[in-house]
Amino acid sequence: ATMPPLLAAIANAGKRGVLVKSAVAVEQLGTVDAVAFDKTGTLTEGTPHVVGITTDEKEDEVLALAAAAEQFSEHPIGRAIVEAARQRDLVVPSATGFRATPGIGVTARVGHRTVSVHRADSSPNDNTTVVVTADHRQIGVIELADRLRPSSGQAVRDLAVLTGRNPVLLTGDNHLAAQRVANAVGIIDVRAELLPQDKVRAVGEIGGRVLFVGDGVNDAPALATAHSGIAMGRKGSALTVDTADAVVVGDDLAVVPALVALARRARRVVI
Ligand code: ADP
Ligand code: MG
Repeated sequence: ATMPPLLAAIANAGKRGVLVKSAVAVEQLGTVDAVAFDKTGTLTEGTPHVVGITTDEKEDEVLALAAAAEQFSEHPIGRAIVEAARQRDLVVPSATGFRATPGIGVTARVGHRTVSVHRADSSPNDNTTVVVTADHRQIGVIELADRLRPSSGQAVRDLAVLTGRNPVLLTGDNHLAAQRVANAVGIIDVRAELLPQDKVRAVGEIGGRVLFVGDGVNDAPALATAHSGIAMGRKGSALTVDTADAVVVGDDLAVVPALVALARRARRVVI
């Protein structure tokens, strides 16, 4: 039996590891003319690890408090901090009143103190840097590093060829960390230290029919407003997966340009 082309495209994409949610989503993907990528968890693997702690107090104490505040966090930074504490066999105190603010950080009540782990105003180098505070006093700085996905550079180049425009990088991370990833994958237009709403605005500024590829809950608003949205599904947030037009099931970003090309061919057949 022959399937209608749009459904055939969905089935085909599924075999390659992208779930496309509807025929309308194929249509949208087939008309994108610009691409924007999130950094952490999208161009990078999204499993950062702690590479340094700077503090005047005891490193382990700062890490244990940070892990306490992050223990309910779904953010890759939070998971990395909890994992680092586990690797050092630290006793992580319990916490109450956990609150996460997308693009900013977390705060929780740990014992009699309010502990927060949040973005830093500046970074000493091109690692991701977060600040730990207790009762609003800075007690330490934690540095994290993440690995690039091996497929990111090729995906960026293929999408540049397909759309005729070099993709853009939109991230909540600091400028130096953003620039390092941009250099590694060949992205020139880099916008860093963006809050979720700043990503929405940036998508608008890029202009045209933008495909946004992201993973985090901080990416959901931008995914929702972009012409087309693709979520990284393996470690991506549930909200982002729900908001996207298509979901990358595995780890390979090569499926993104492949999907755009497939969607274009499917449209051509229909029209
Ligand atoms: P990206 O756009 O690179 O995926 P996010 O918007 O999720 O990044 O986060 C931007 C910045 O906000 C992080 O680099 C970090 O400084 C801070 N941040 C976000 N969530 C957390 C968290 N759970 N713990 C500490 N810092 C966080
Ligand atoms: Mg992200």
